[in-house]
Amino acid sequence: MKTILINGNLYDSAYLLYTAEGQKVLEMARKEKRKSNEPNIFCICKGIHDPVPMHAKMKPKDEKYSYTLVRNPNTMHQHSPECIRYSERLMIENEVVEEFEGMNMEKHSKQSNDKVVGGIWEEALLYSNNYKVKELVPNEDIKHEKSVRRKSTSKYTAMYTMLEKITTFAWYKYVTNKNNNSNPKEGNLFHYIYTVINDMEIRNSNIQNVKESKSKITLGKILFKPGLGSKNEDITKQLLIKRRFVIGNKIEVHKTLVIGKYLSHEDVEENKIRLQLQDPYQKNYYYLYGNKQQILNGLRFKVSEASLYVIAYITPLNNMAMIDSIDSMPVLNNRGIYVQSSYEIDYAEELIEKNILFFRPPSSENPFKKMFNGNIPDFLLLDRNSRMVATICEVFGYKKDNNSELSIKYWEKAREKMAYYETLKDSFYTNYWYPLGKESISVFEPNLKKKQRK
Ligand SMILES: [Zn+2]
Repeated sequence: MKTILINGNLYDSAYLLYTAEGQKVLEMARKEKRKSNEPNIFCICKGIHDPVPMHAKMKPKDEKYSYTLVRNPNTMHQHSPECIRYSERLMIENEVVEEFEGMNMEKHSKQSNDKVVGGIWEEALLYSNNYKVKELVPNEDIKHEKSVRRKSTSKYTAMYTMLEKITTFAWYKYVTNKNNNSNPKEGNLFHYIYTVINDMEIRNSNIQNVKESKSKITLGKILFKPGLGSKNEDITKQLLIKRRFVIGNKIEVHKTLVIGKYLSHEDVEENKIRLQLQDPYQKNYYYLYGNKQQILNGLRFKVSEASLYVIAYITPLNNMAMIDSIDSMPVLNNRGIYVQSSYEIDYAEELIEKNILFFRPPSSENPFKKMFNGNIPDFLLLDRNSRMVATICEVFGYKKDNNSELSIKYWEKAREKMAYYETLKDSFYTNYWYPLGKESISVFEPNLKKKQRK
C-alpha cells in the first residue's frame, strides 16, 4: 500500500526501505530537508489531506540499506490508530514487532556480539547481566528541544536470553555437523550443551555478592551436568555442591546454572514451592525450591502443546537447592527448540517429518542482524551437502483475512519483511507458511542457490 508522500509522489514503505531506487528517494528527501528545514516526508494514514510529517534517518554504516523512515518526536497520536506508526513501541521503522497468538512477545532487531562470518555462526557469547536495551533517538526536527533519550527494557530477561541462545546454538552446532543426518532430539541437544558448547563464554557472570563483575567464565563451569545416575532417580544431592573457581588470583564462588525440563511443582510450605525438573539427556530428575510467586511468574506456560524448559540460578541452603532467579521457554516436545505459537509447532513438525535440516536464530538477540538487514527469520533451512543457509522461512501469526488492528499492523510489517527477502532472491529461497491448516504446507528440500555455491 502506498502510504508515504514525498514531494507530491506516493510510495510504498517497503519500496523506500528495501530498493536502491527507494533509498535514493529517501536520501534526496533527507538532503533537501537539511537545507530547507521544512518537512517533506509524510504518512497519509488519515488521508491525503491530513498528512503527518516524518523524516528519513541514516542507519548504522554496516547495514545494506542506509536510510530508514522514522516518526517525528511526539507525533504518535497524529497517526491513525490503524497506522503502524501509531504503535507506542515502534520508533524505528525496521524494528520488527510481532504479536503471536497465545504469546505476546516483541521481536527486537537487537545487536549481538556473536561472530557470524559468511552465514556461519562461529561463536556465541552469553551475558548474564540484566538485559536492557538503550535506544538513543536523536531529535533532528525540533532543534530547540533537548534530544530525547529513550530507554526501553526488553521483554526478554537475561535468563530467557541465555536459555534461548544456549539451545539455539547447540541445535545449530548439531545440524551443521556433517556427521549428523537429522535434526536433534532433546537428548542429542543436551549432549551438545554439556559437551560441544561447553566453552561458550559468559560475560558479567553471576558471582555471589559481587555486582557488576566484569569477569568471564565458561558455560561448562557453572552449568549443572547431572552425573551418571540411573534413569528416574532423584539426583538432587548432586546439586548441593558449591562451585569455587580460581579466576585470576582470586577464588570466586559462582551460583550454579540449571537448565531442565519442567515436570511438576507443588506447595511445600506457605510461600514455598518445590519444582521438579528433568535432565533431558540422562532422563533423571531433581528438585529446586523457591519463593512461590517468583517461581509461578517464571513458569511461562504460554504455548499449549509445548514442553517447558526452565533455566535457574541456584545456591544450596539447608540441603536444598534454592532458586535465586528463574525463567522458562516453551519448546517443541522432545526436541527442545523454542516455539512461540501452535503454527510454529506445525511448521517445525513438518520439517522434522520430512527430515529437512533447519535451525532457528534466537528471537531475543540478533546474531544474524547483518545477514538479514536487522530482520530475524523464523526458521532457516540448510542445504544438506554444504550445511549452509538455503531457505528463509516465515511462519505468519495471523490469517490474511483477519481484520483486527493487530493483524493489520502485523501484515504491514510482514509485507515489508517479504519485500526485503525478495531483494535476496539471488541468494536464498523463501518459504512462507500461512496459518490455514496443514493442507497448505508445502516445504521442499532446500538446495543452495548458484550465487551461494563456491
Ligand atoms: Zn501514519
